[in-house]
Amino acid sequence: MAAARGVVMKASASPCLTLRPGLLRQRLVPSFGIPEKEFGSALSERSYSMPSLSSVSARWGDGGSNSSYNSGSIFDSPNLSPLSGQSRAKRELLVPLPTLVDSKVIFSAAPAFGHNKEGHPECKARVSSIMKALDQAGFADESRSRDFLHLDVKNMASVEEVAAVHNMSYVKGLKKIMEKAREEKLLILDTTGPTYATENTYREAMFGAGASLAVLDHVVAASRETSTPPVGFALVRPPGHHAIPTRPMGFCVFGNVAVAARHAQRVHGLQRVFIIDFDVHHGNGTNDMFYEDPNVYYLSTHQVGGFPGTGKVDEVGEGRGEGTTLNLPLPGGSGDEAMGAVFDEVIVPAAQRFRPDIILVSAGYDAHYLDELAGLQFTCGTYYRLASQIKQLAGDLCAGRCCFFLEGGYDLKALSNSVVETFRAFAGEKSLANRLDNPAVIYDEPSILVRRAIDEIRSIHSL
Ligand SMILES: [Zn+2]
Repeated sequence: MAAARGVVMKASASPCLTLRPGLLRQRLVPSFGIPEKEFGSALSERSYSMPSLSSVSARWGDGGSNSSYNSGSIFDSPNLSPLSGQSRAKRELLVPLPTLVDSKVIFSAAPAFGHNKEGHPECKARVSSIMKALDQAGFADESRSRDFLHLDVKNMASVEEVAAVHNMSYVKGLKKIMEKAREEKLLILDTTGPTYATENTYREAMFGAGASLAVLDHVVAASRETSTPPVGFALVRPPGHHAIPTRPMGFCVFGNVAVAARHAQRVHGLQRVFIIDFDVHHGNGTNDMFYEDPNVYYLSTHQVGGFPGTGKVDEVGEGRGEGTTLNLPLPGGSGDEAMGAVFDEVIVPAAQRFRPDIILVSAGYDAHYLDELAGLQFTCGTYYRLASQIKQLAGDLCAGRCCFFLEGGYDLKALSNSVVETFRAFAGEKSLANRLDNPAVIYDEPSILVRRAIDEIRSIHSL
């Protein structure tokens, strides 16, 4: 299946808009506060025995048997468990409340220029490519400045905030090994992916988590004042949904969406959190963190048989959390039609029954038909519709409170165009996906298998 996808992708022409330069890149990327020149270029790789990109892709594409990720690691410590019940004061708002209330989208950007490995798909070009595409699509134009607010976040998450979902020994252990990373230039923390660390990884991951929390704080603050708050998007890296409580995994360092979920509960009193994860891979880390928690519903769609091999339909939660984990593996080739049916027949009824206080989204864009790390056929149009539908769902169920968090997405053009379409959907603007997608390279979806998968999951969860 992966080979077949490769043939299709090579044939694709990947058309896109002719975009013009503008202000956003100049205004936004430097305002993150970590100029790229400070990082990256000074780093050189140690001569590790590294998998090539092609072998990385192969592993991600067919890693169905690799579910033994609970092996020991340098971060193991049996006596330290995640903090419980601690809360922190709300952050100061970075924009005036009236401005916030009038906006349609509020976003932060943590490009993590200091966390990079040349040739690795999870690289420093990802968020900066998105920012450039937003700029070129005109989102920084004067006429739209009221609608799109960029949060200039300078604060990292605290250790306590991250340790709400991760083992304290892992959080502190990662900081501790930065010295070793400085000496050796590059460390491999986890062989799945693999997940790497530079001397700046701890700092960058903490910024990513902090930028995630800032977006959530602003969306919640706006929701106290208006029934139509802006949708939030944390454009952050490294991604988070594979990171497990005790260690990093699968390109992911800290579970940004999970940290935000706990923060929503403890700081804002939003007890019932509904997480939608449409990354092409199963978010095993988020899954594990809330597996026994009845107040956090984790719903993942992902490609069957993909990395990391978890996320089967019978993984439904345990104990008091039984029934609040929903895993829907989709057959290879699933695309726009499949996800449309999944949204209507699975996501909507599951969310309606759960009655969330906030919806958080693990927004991975690696299910795009151009992405080489998997074999689904989402398009920019699919992501536009998903964003529009999820925003509507949040409006119907939880006062419009909704935040997206960047996960995967490794074809830079597909990733950037899809996030731009996501922004258009949030703002209620017309989709331009028909100028971005190339239907000539989309093949028939496996509709019989998709129907079977939807019927099965509806039966298991009594939807
Ligand atoms: Zn992914």
